Amino acid sequence: MHESFLHFLWQWRRFDARDLRSTEGQPLRIERQGIKNTHAGPDFFNAQVWIDNTRWAGNVELHVRSSEWHAHGHSDDPAYDNVVLHVVLDEDRPVVRQNGERIPCLELKGRIPEHLTLIWQQLEYERQQIPCADFFLKIPHIIRFNWLDRLLIERLEQKTLVIAQILERHQRHWEAAFYELLARNFGLKVNAEPFETLARQLPLNIVARHKNNLMQVEALVFGQAGLLDGEWADEYPKALAREYRHLRRKFNLTPMEAAQWKFLRLRPANFPTVRLAQFAALLHCSVNLFSKILEMNNLRDLEHLFDVEVSDYWLTHFRFDKASVKRPKRLGRDFLHLLFINTIVPFLFHYGKENARDDLQKRALEWLEHLPPETNAILDDWANLGQTARNAYQSQALIHLKTHYCDQRRCLECAIGNSILK
Ligand code: SF4
Repeated sequence: MHESFLHFLWQWRRFDARDLRSTEGQPLRIERQGIKNTHAGPDFFNAQVWIDNTRWAGNVELHVRSSEWHAHGHSDDPAYDNVVLHVVLDEDRPVVRQNGERIPCLELKGRIPEHLTLIWQQLEYERQQIPCADFFLKIPHIIRFNWLDRLLIERLEQKTLVIAQILERHQRHWEAAFYELLARNFGLKVNAEPFETLARQLPLNIVARHKNNLMQVEALVFGQAGLLDGEWADEYPKALAREYRHLRRKFNLTPMEAAQWKFLRLRPANFPTVRLAQFAALLHCSVNLFSKILEMNNLRDLEHLFDVEVSDYWLTHFRFDKASVKRPKRLGRDFLHLLFINTIVPFLFHYGKENARDDLQKRALEWLEHLPPETNAILDDWANLGQTARNAYQSQALIHLKTHYCDQRRCLECAIGNSILK
C-alpha cells in the first residue's frame, strides 16, 4: 500500500471508525481529521481527537508502518513535537517524542474496506490508457461535468503562467507578448521552437515600421529565419535576399540558423516556409492583433481577422525555387482553431484576469464552447470510453485530465477517483 492511499482514507474517513482504540487500548474518537498539509511538516494540521476522554488538538502524521517515523527522520525534528496522533496501517515499533512520551497510535489494519483496496489497486496498476475505464461512465453526470469545469480552469491557469512569463520578458507589453506566443503556436509542435526564436530575434517594433509593405515584411521574416541564404534561381527570393541585406544592416539584425526549421514528414501545406509566408501576411494585415481581438465579440469576426492570403509567389510554391500548381494558402480552419484554443483564449482569459474584466474571461470561455473539439489520440480514447467531447471546452478539459491526472496516476486527487472510492 502507498502512503498516499492512507492519506486519502484518513482525509475522507473511508475506514471503519467504530469503536476506535489506540494501540495501547485507550478509547479514541476523531472530531476533526485536520487539514491536509502539502508542504514540509506533519501530514495534517489542526486535527482534534479524543483519547481516553481528553481532547487533543494538534497534528497528525501517517505512515504505512510506524517505524517509518524514524526512517523519515521525524524523531529529531521539532516540527513533529506537536503530533497528537500517529496513524499507521501497521504499528511495527512504538514511537516516542523527544521527551520520551509515547505518541498515541491508531492502526488502520483491518479497518479498510476490502473493496476500496481492490479498486485503488486497479487504479494504481491498471495498464489501460484510462485506468478507471471500467467505472468512468457510472459516475454521475453532474460529478463528471463539474470536474471538467474545474479542470478547464486549471488548464487555462497553467497556460496563463506561461503567458505571465512572456509578458514579464516584454515589460508587460501585451502586443509584443501576444506576438511571441502566436509565433510559437504557428509552428505547432514540430516548429514551435524555431518560430519562438524567430519572434525573439525579430522584434515586433521593427516589423511595425515596415508592415505596410508585404514584401519587406517577408524579407524580415524569411531573412531572420535564416532561409534567404543561398543561390536562388527564382527572382522573388533573390529580391527578398537583397531587401533583407539592407534591412539587416539598418536594424543590426542577426539571423537564425536555417537548420532549426524542420520539413521532414510534414505535408507541404505545413512546411515552415508556408507557415512563415502566412505569418508575414498576418503581420502585414496588422501588428496590433491583440488590440483588435479585444474589440471582437464573436468568433466569426475573429476568423475574418485571420483570413489572410499569402503573397503571389507562395500561391505557386511551397518552398523557394520549387514551383507547384497554383493553390490558395489561407490558414485552414483546423489550424486556426488550434491557434484560437492555444493562443487567443488563454491570452484573453489572462488579460481579463489582470485587468479585472470578467466579461473578457467569460468571452474566452464562451469561445471555447463554440469552437469544435480537437481531434487527437487522447480524445479518441475518451470517445471510445463513451465520453465524447462536444466542443473545445470539453476537449481541453479531457486532455488536461488525461495528461495531468490519469497519466500521473493522480486518481486520489481526482473527483472521479474520489467518487469511485466512496
Ligand atoms: S485520474 Fe481520474 S479520470 Fe483518470 S484514471 Fe484516475 S480516476 Fe479515472
